[in-house]
Amino acid sequence: MSAPLLEVRNLTKFFPVRAGVLLRKVGDVHAVDDVSLTLGRGETLGLVGESGCGKSTVGKTILNLLKPTGGKVLFEGRDLGTLSRSEWRVLRRDIQIIFQDPTESLNARHTVGQILEEPFVIHKLGTPEERNEWAGDLLERVGLPRSAVSRFPHEFSGGQRQRIGIARAIALKPKLIVCDEAVSALDVSVRAQIINLLLELQRDMELALLFIAHDLSVVRHVSNRVAVMYLGRIVEQAPSSEISEHACHPYTRALISAIPLPDPDRKRERIVLEGDVPSPVTPPTGCRFHTRCAHAVKVCEEKTPEWESVSERQQVACHRWRELRGEIGG
Ligand code: SF4
Repeated sequence: MSAPLLEVRNLTKFFPVRAGVLLRKVGDVHAVDDVSLTLGRGETLGLVGESGCGKSTVGKTILNLLKPTGGKVLFEGRDLGTLSRSEWRVLRRDIQIIFQDPTESLNARHTVGQILEEPFVIHKLGTPEERNEWAGDLLERVGLPRSAVSRFPHEFSGGQRQRIGIARAIALKPKLIVCDEAVSALDVSVRAQIINLLLELQRDMELALLFIAHDLSVVRHVSNRVAVMYLGRIVEQAPSSEISEHACHPYTRALISAIPLPDPDRKRERIVLEGDVPSPVTPPTGCRFHTRCAHAVKVCEEKTPEWESVSERQQVACHRWRELRGEIGG
């Protein structure tokens, strides 16, 4: 079997908490704790969870925008933690990111043409005339007119700006794009258009996507597989075609229960989670979900659940998944 395009092994990212006049370190925010995942060529992995669960930190750490506290990120078998700055510069052709807010990620003082030509300039590709031509090609590829090269980002709507962000991300024909809440800020109709554009590009360019979002219904729609995160850890991974019917983790089940069913005659019992998400500075012992889980027993407080295989393509971290599957179906 060929190596995955991306492999994240036991990734950990803590942020120090400082207090007092001397800003002494008094603790850590456990943003990402022992996260492992793989992504194949041309595949989409959805990473889903509530705000603050650490999913965006996973994306930024993969891109080296944040230094990991522990663990490894391998891309095409290469350990990204060992790369020099110049090696990273070359590798950034293959790994790109699309952020939630294109307004912040597009330089407001540059024309769209300058923004789209920048990756070619950085990588010393083409003549000025060729770069200008390529910028026009990119705009057409994402459904915008070539004439947009001479305009500024503020002259476009939110959806159009996200198209510009996507055009810049695909400029160097990457192998992987991290979509960090890339459609979360868009209106529903615009969101559907941008998702369709991403799926079209993925198919045509054999792109792998790490699709990070808080909305499981969107993630399930675009992804081949879904990984569910809670308080810095992945609690379940499964094919998106199976997760609705066969989810084993109580947290995944709660997320699924919140998705409206398209058929008004079908009803699904909504699982309402009690209490707030605990602080990532002092995460609960054992299973981090035990303070909100209706099925928690003593062992859940004491012992971190191991990662177990439900099937070849589904894994879960829950002490009671076997019993619960029998009790509540799945
Ligand atoms: Fe709930 Fe226990 Fe499973 Fe955690 S390990 S999800 S607390 S049943």
